[in-house]
Amino acid sequence: MAERMLKFTITPRTTPEKRAVEARARDFHEIYRDFIDAKASEQAARCSQCGVPFCQTHCPLENNIPDWLRMTAEGRLEEAYQLSQATNSMPEICGRICPQDRLCEGSCVIEQSGHGTVTIGAVERYLSDKAWEEGWVRPLVAGKAKGQSVGVIGAGPAGLAAAERLREMGYAVTVYDRHDRPGGLLTYGIPGFKLEKEVVERRTRRLAEGGVEYALDFEVGRDASLADLRARHDSVLIATGVYAARDMAVPGAGSVGVVPALAYLIASNRKGFGDDVPEFESGALNAAGKRVVVVGGGDTAMDCVRTAVRQGAASVTCLYRRDRANMPGSAREVMHAEEEGVIFEWLAAPRAVTGAALAAAGVVAARMRLGPADASGRQAPEEIPGADFDLQADLVIKALGFDPEDLPTAFAAPELALSRWGTLKADAKLMTTIPGVFAAGDIVRGASLVVWAIKDGRDAADAIHRYLAAHAAAARIAAE
Ligand SMILES: Cc1cc2nc3c(=O)[nH]c(=O)nc-3n(C[C@H](O)[C@H](O)[C@H](O)COP(=O)(O)OP(=O)(O)OC[C@H]3O[C@@H](n4cnc5c(N)ncnc54)[C@H](O)[C@@H]3O)c2cc1C
Ligand code: SF4
Repeated sequence: MAERMLKFTITPRTTPEKRAVEARARDFHEIYRDFIDAKASEQAARCSQCGVPFCQTHCPLENNIPDWLRMTAEGRLEEAYQLSQATNSMPEICGRICPQDRLCEGSCVIEQSGHGTVTIGAVERYLSDKAWEEGWVRPLVAGKAKGQSVGVIGAGPAGLAAAERLREMGYAVTVYDRHDRPGGLLTYGIPGFKLEKEVVERRTRRLAEGGVEYALDFEVGRDASLADLRARHDSVLIATGVYAARDMAVPGAGSVGVVPALAYLIASNRKGFGDDVPEFESGALNAAGKRVVVVGGGDTAMDCVRTAVRQGAASVTCLYRRDRANMPGSAREVMHAEEEGVIFEWLAAPRAVTGAALAAAGVVAARMRLGPADASGRQAPEEIPGADFDLQADLVIKALGFDPEDLPTAFAAPELALSRWGTLKADAKLMTTIPGVFAAGDIVRGASLVVWAIKDGRDAADAIHRYLAAHAAAARIAAE
């Protein structure tokens, strides 16, 4: 049924229904049910169609949100989907996992006026899921062959978004990844309760069916150098993400019961795929029956605590050295974790892990307070003397963030320049210090968001196209 717009004063904001905690905490399925058709149009019709759409300017992809909301309200769903996918390579994925409260929804004008934001993410997810169901997602059709090829290192959202666009333009594209499945952190980092794996797989399949080649279990640095790939392709895109996990420098941090977050999440995701995972079977990367302490306050920490709940942990505690207002993870994820029984120890940092070398038995934690702001303007946490406390723990998960790996060394390419944070230096056209080698996603930005990786991948594809087109033209002139 077609709805008129500007209904925000009479229609309250509603999100799709959440599954009950008792049911969702026992499996790895997504926690939100789908919007029913009528609900999606009703919620889209709350949009005020304001003259300056701040939602659009605060979406990294500058999605044309007001127009696709209006089309949804009018029941023009296929048109709405086509408009939404014109700027976004993976709208159903962003609809699920973007921190909308910090992006589009956080700047929605009716949110600012106290009426509650339009549920932009949920409508975006609804439209794209509907499009997959109805067959509106068109196959990837390769453009007229250009006779040039691009090698993409990394099958995460940045690499995949670039591969799709380059293929549409007619380039031969090979995506190399050291994992056995494409998707990057969408596949092996983010758990199914935020993003079910079939949602990622249907996107990666669509690329393969459109002629994008995957070279999996292929690690650049081990199976080929960057120079090898440059010899194979006319241009190379580096989209390798950031994977050097920050460590916890406290006594006892080397105990067997202290594990890195990504290893823990990868093991859980692999179990979900039905793989044989010895470290999970042995209990080393399995929280079942254990008292679990997760150290960190970002998205990775939130994914670990909620995974531990689903694996049947006896208790799950999150230690974070700042307070709730200053944590980097999404407030929505903290709320879900609290509903699922996770205990948050705000303003607390590990001082030592106790127990035998073969197992953690506890964490001694220092109580913190927020001191004066540091050079970055953020209040620095400082210890409160004499306020230490003990927590029992059989499994301690370190989720303290990620830095870039040393790519110039790994890729045998010392001419690849780095920023002072160790990320790859790229110019405004996303080209690195090696001509014809481009970079996109977390490896340029540092640990960031999926939506930014997609934006960078799309921009890098356009930049590579301009570069290769100019080279082809120069070669033609030289040959004349
Ligand atoms: C646990 C976790 C949860 C997150 N949750 C969210 C969330 O809810 N919402 C959100 O927006 N963002 C989230 N993020 C951040 C988001 O996943 C990343 O910003 C995004 O995936 C970056 O995309 P990318 O393509 O740059 O890199 P990645 O997704 O990391 O992909 C890089 C790929 O490169 C491959 N690779 C690396 N080195 C090599 C090599 N030498 N040879 C071959 N292949 C290589 C890797 O195997 C990987 O597949 C989360 C991150 C983590 C770790
Ligand atoms: S891509 Fe992310 S920020 Fe942009 S409209 Fe969708 S949910 Fe909002």
